[in-house]
Amino acid sequence: MSVVGFDLGFQSCYVAVARAGGIETVANEYSDRCTPSFVSFGPRNRSIGAAAKSQVVTNCKNTVQSFKQFHGRAFSDSYVQSAKSNLVYDLAQMPSGSTGIKVMYMEEERVFSIEQVTGMLLTKLKETAESALKKPVADCVISVPSYFTDAERRSVMDAAQIAGLNCLRLMNETTAVTLAYGIYKQDLPAPEEKPRIVVFVDLGHSGYQVSVCAFNKGKLKILATAFDSELGGKDFDDILVNHFCEEFGKKYKLDVKSKPRALVRLYQECEKLKKLMSANSSDLPLNIECFMNDIDVSSKLNRGQFEEMCAGLLAKVEGPLRSVMEQTKLKKEDIYAVEIVGGASRIPAIKERISKFFGKELSTTLNADEAVARGCALQCAILSPAFKVREFSITDVVPYSISLKWNSAAEEGLSDCEVFPKNHAAPFSKVLTFYRKEPFTLEAYYNSPKELPYPSATIGRFLIQNVVPQASGESAKVKVKVRVNVHGVFSVSSASLVEVLKTAEGEEQPTQKAVCHSRMFFPTLKQQYLPRLKSFSSLLFQTTTEDAKQEKKNDQPPQAKKPKVKTKTVELPIENNLDWQLSSEVLNMFVENEGKMIMQDKLEKERNDAKNNVEEYVYDMRDKLHGVLEKFVNEADRDTFSLKLEDTENWLYEDGEDQQKQVYIDKLAELKKMGQPIHERYMEAEERPKAFEDLGRQIQMYMKIIEAYKDEQYDHLDELEVTRVDKHVNDAMVWMNSKMNQQNSQDLTLDPVVKVEEIKAKTKEIYSACNPVVSKPKPKVEPPKEEKTENGPVNGQEGTENQPCNPDKAMPAGTEQETAENKLPEMDID
Ligand code: ATP
Ligand code: MG
Repeated sequence: MSVVGFDLGFQSCYVAVARAGGIETVANEYSDRCTPSFVSFGPRNRSIGAAAKSQVVTNCKNTVQSFKQFHGRAFSDSYVQSAKSNLVYDLAQMPSGSTGIKVMYMEEERVFSIEQVTGMLLTKLKETAESALKKPVADCVISVPSYFTDAERRSVMDAAQIAGLNCLRLMNETTAVTLAYGIYKQDLPAPEEKPRIVVFVDLGHSGYQVSVCAFNKGKLKILATAFDSELGGKDFDDILVNHFCEEFGKKYKLDVKSKPRALVRLYQECEKLKKLMSANSSDLPLNIECFMNDIDVSSKLNRGQFEEMCAGLLAKVEGPLRSVMEQTKLKKEDIYAVEIVGGASRIPAIKERISKFFGKELSTTLNADEAVARGCALQCAILSPAFKVREFSITDVVPYSISLKWNSAAEEGLSDCEVFPKNHAAPFSKVLTFYRKEPFTLEAYYNSPKELPYPSATIGRFLIQNVVPQASGESAKVKVKVRVNVHGVFSVSSASLVEVLKTAEGEEQPTQKAVCHSRMFFPTLKQQYLPRLKSFSSLLFQTTTEDAKQEKKNDQPPQAKKPKVKTKTVELPIENNLDWQLSSEVLNMFVENEGKMIMQDKLEKERNDAKNNVEEYVYDMRDKLHGVLEKFVNEADRDTFSLKLEDTENWLYEDGEDQQKQVYIDKLAELKKMGQPIHERYMEAEERPKAFEDLGRQIQMYMKIIEAYKDEQYDHLDELEVTRVDKHVNDAMVWMNSKMNQQNSQDLTLDPVVKVEEIKAKTKEIYSACNPVVSKPKPKVEPPKEEKTENGPVNGQEGTENQPCNPDKAMPAGTEQETAENKLPEMDID
């Protein structure tokens, strides 16, 4: 399986992978670790990431960004409607009522769902991971803001599926940061100390998230979270843009917002200015040439003025900090560290406020941009059987309290109860018991809508089907398992009907109907029954330890003490009705379409590459024909080829501008037919001297040996063989001299008389004929016996071939392979 983490940011994304036992943030095809969250649609293909961002001005209507905010939202959502007016691209309603984006793609107007657009971005990130890991990627962990509701989370999960990813966990951004921090500070706290409390702040482009975590060695427990989705880098950009729109309106009489292109450029410049102001407090210029109606605009701003403009935004910094402190009832002195991440956390005024609130220096242990992706990759490694990660467990929290309501037996009307209070540990499952005679519906909803940055409190409806009364006619016991899963999504994960069979004595066991009756949770009776409610809660909720082993198991219901009853459990089907959930047919269609678009992009890339190859060849050859290749082509051929190149260049701008891939391939072949022989002659001439030199050196060497053949060093060689070597060497010399002479007297514009390959072959040939003869070792002379010592080898004979090798050293490198294979790579921080 692949071990990959994706930080799916509002403005930019990061990809981290587990490689060589460590977590590494990997770069995209532009050698950049940051991939902009942009998708651009063109007449022939899509561009995603950096290539899309570069089209934000030139193709602004079809270049989409900031779409993370539309996940799981109705088109009619007031948030969508108000965001719509600030976008340069169009939004449209999907048939289901959710939000889609309207663009021109392949010369047609198309509406893509947000899941599809995020799916496209994920396709790109997946490719980045694949090219880093050099293998297909499917298993991964993806980040989402901790304040995302179920509908938003499910929408991101669908996007992952469209991109062919198997998301093992949707991880809250601050939780990912917590994990990354935990791995860095592995020894937190020292054994005798109590848990250390660390506050994490992530200030990204779209929002501000704060979480508090208790670190107890390998156990990381999130205690509380708070957020503000209206405090992010984009909100500072908006203030700057509005400021300059107003100023340019007055100064140059320009209505900037009426021109999408100008507005996009202003956003870009304002963001740059904002970043510069973080590093510099003096006056900084903002100049845009040919901004609108051929007018150049210019202005300036300094940090002090910026902070004044943003006073309202900056005042929001404290709220979430105060909220987490109140929720956890911690005192400021309990906080061990405050770690900040996210691009916008670099704004000095924000840092000051956070630091002042806690009365301590902020900590920046982690890479502010990459921590989320790295945390996700770590989580993926923890989930992967292929990696051994130091023992880490991380428990998250439920961000909004979740209640269930249902219609109880005819007389009682609507009942409800809170199943997961805010900050309840997650993932977590609970079992609820109902007594019913017929199918019933549970509706899950967030019970404090004021806290939700989302218009609808409904999570979904779950119809528990096939419920029938017991044989006796009494209500049947139905166990319903509710769950907040690893993705932070609520579900009714299973339901079963417990059929009570006859006991051994033939008597039917009485059921525990009264105490578990839903009436206890009738809202208006809540106060009145509160004391009873508490005592009965153990009957209603059985904590399953599956997800949250650390949580103390609730008391067993009193039934446990009863005599044994024979029961049979029947699984019940559940019909889910979730808001904005894509149907499987639609999802399949999106998966299929994504595959088609990937193929289209690939074909278009190949077509473009083929075209570029022609263009490159034309330019390359044109330069060389009057440069290095000049000597290797006669004048007439050169003129013909030059003309051909010029024609091709013109063709590329005219008829050849937009052709099929094969046309370019054929064109290149046609050019190469003329160019290749010239180029080959050049290459031959370049390499020929060295090839002759090597051969000459070889010949000389053997000649020297033949001359010295009578000397003591060679007197063991066989005379007949040496004569043969002599002949070989002489023949080779004759061959070389004749070829060299012929070649030297021939014009370079003609094909060479001898090819470099032939010269090399000749060198090889004499080597194999001569070397075995001349390198024959001289026979060893046995030393006189009496000189041999008892204790060691004879002087001067150490290290000869006869000496036995050290068996350890001689062992091939792969011998230890077996053990190495069994050992999993240990995860470490690089
Ligand atoms: P989100 O986490 O909200 O989904 P994101 O992950 O894409 O968004 P980040 O990359 O963490 O966001 O931060 C991007 C924001 O940080 C942008 O608004 C950017 O302008 C801002 N930013 C980056 N560097 C600086 C800086 N030096 N000073 C001020 N703002 C900065
Ligand atoms: Mg982020």
